[in-house]
Amino acid sequence: MANFNSINPFTGKTISELPELSQEDIQVRLNKAAEVYQIYRKSEYSYRSERLYKVAEILRADSKELAEIITNEMGKAITESVAEVLKCAWVCEYYAEHAEEFLSSKDVSTDASLSYVKYEPLGTILAVMPWNFPLWQVFRFAAPALMAGNIVLLKHASNVQLSAKKIEEVFLNAGFEDGVFQNLAVKSGAVAAIIENSVVKAITLTGSEFAGASVAEVAGKNIKKCVLELGGNNAFVVLNDADIEKAVEVSLIARLLNAGQSCIAAKRFILEEEIHDEFIRKLKEKILVYKVGDPTLDETKMGPLSSSQAVDALDMQVQKSIELGANLIYGGQSDGAKYEPAILLDVKPGMPAFDEELFGPVYAVTKVKSKEEALELSNQSEFGLGLNLFTRSKETADFFIENAQEGSVFVNSMVKSDPRLPFGGVKKSGYGRELSVEGIREFVNVKTVYMEDI
Ligand code: NAP
Repeated sequence: MANFNSINPFTGKTISELPELSQEDIQVRLNKAAEVYQIYRKSEYSYRSERLYKVAEILRADSKELAEIITNEMGKAITESVAEVLKCAWVCEYYAEHAEEFLSSKDVSTDASLSYVKYEPLGTILAVMPWNFPLWQVFRFAAPALMAGNIVLLKHASNVQLSAKKIEEVFLNAGFEDGVFQNLAVKSGAVAAIIENSVVKAITLTGSEFAGASVAEVAGKNIKKCVLELGGNNAFVVLNDADIEKAVEVSLIARLLNAGQSCIAAKRFILEEEIHDEFIRKLKEKILVYKVGDPTLDETKMGPLSSSQAVDALDMQVQKSIELGANLIYGGQSDGAKYEPAILLDVKPGMPAFDEELFGPVYAVTKVKSKEEALELSNQSEFGLGLNLFTRSKETADFFIENAQEGSVFVNSMVKSDPRLPFGGVKKSGYGRELSVEGIREFVNVKTVYMEDI
């Protein structure tokens, strides 16, 4: 049986070797999920929320310890790991408080004596999750899904199996029955058969386009509901009338958070020509504090990428873009899994830095002559997760909101996920939504009830 080797990307040392589940172990867990669902689906909202509040309490109390696991496994700066754990506590509290309101039955007036819509759980949902936010990606799905009465099976990324194990422990320690939230320590090759298993009723995947297409294919063949949260190549549009100081400040987080390894990171910087040079000058001053350092230290603003292979892939995209005419004016040095933030100017469609998702701390900058050109370039992407827009004009903001081919538009702010707002994309960024009313209703049976003569 193959093992999962978790390697600390900063030190290069193996930090854990966990066993993969056998076929028999997988079946035992699936059976347990099916069994416990018959009890859990009948539980009151108050019963579920009590436990989810307890999860939040544990996350807050153990935030430091959990953050250390995240940082050691995938390399993000410890302050960001702590913030991630606390955001998970928030999402649990939010759904513990609001799920009942989001899922309460709705009367609809028809010709019947009584007609209404009621929301029921679907059963066991398989969650295939990525390593870049090892806790947040899981909790933002699991909190609403569990409140809706579903059972969760987690298949986490191979390099964050300690985090996965820990998450399961948190749910158990909070009082959820064994089986309501289970970690399946399996590699991606085992996923198709799990989707095909009759216990699994629906699937959510956060990850790459390739993984999304593979999972959706099997789900489709088996007529099972699927939500996909895939990659992004978000534009960060700064127009002539913008507050440049603020735009530069926000860009640092939008591009460099998690060492740039975020689906919703700002990746293509589309700057109107009048403010282009000022933006770059200010950016070059402010970016200086972002140097790759030991991610376990509080003062470190940026850790390494998740692996040296990730650095190689990123560097290849940057070098190819330079060959095609892009101009590297800052950074880009690498050493193992470490990659220093970089600024690439004169980026154009046809270059990897424009056409592809750069999963690392690289500013790909394109100069444009007008807001119309900015919109056209922003939409010129096979992805459609979110748009960051900087302007002081409400009319211009409305023009972008109306015409942007995106799952979200954030004006004078960066694209981010928030438990109170729906999150998801269009085009190759996937389909379906997480969070908010829309998200919690993805994994429910919307049951129509129509009664006469009663
Ligand atoms: P990934 O390689 O697609 O992995 C994501 C998950 O899918 C992992 O658990 C992985 O397992 C599994 N997987 C991979 N190939 C599979 C297959 N053929 N069948 C079934 N499962 C499979 O993605 P990643 O490199 O971890 O994450 C980076 C990508 O995720 C980026 O494109 C990023 O933009 C996207 N992302 C999107 C969002 C969003 O909300 N839209 C959020 C975060 C990340 P193994 O690790 O065992 O291979």
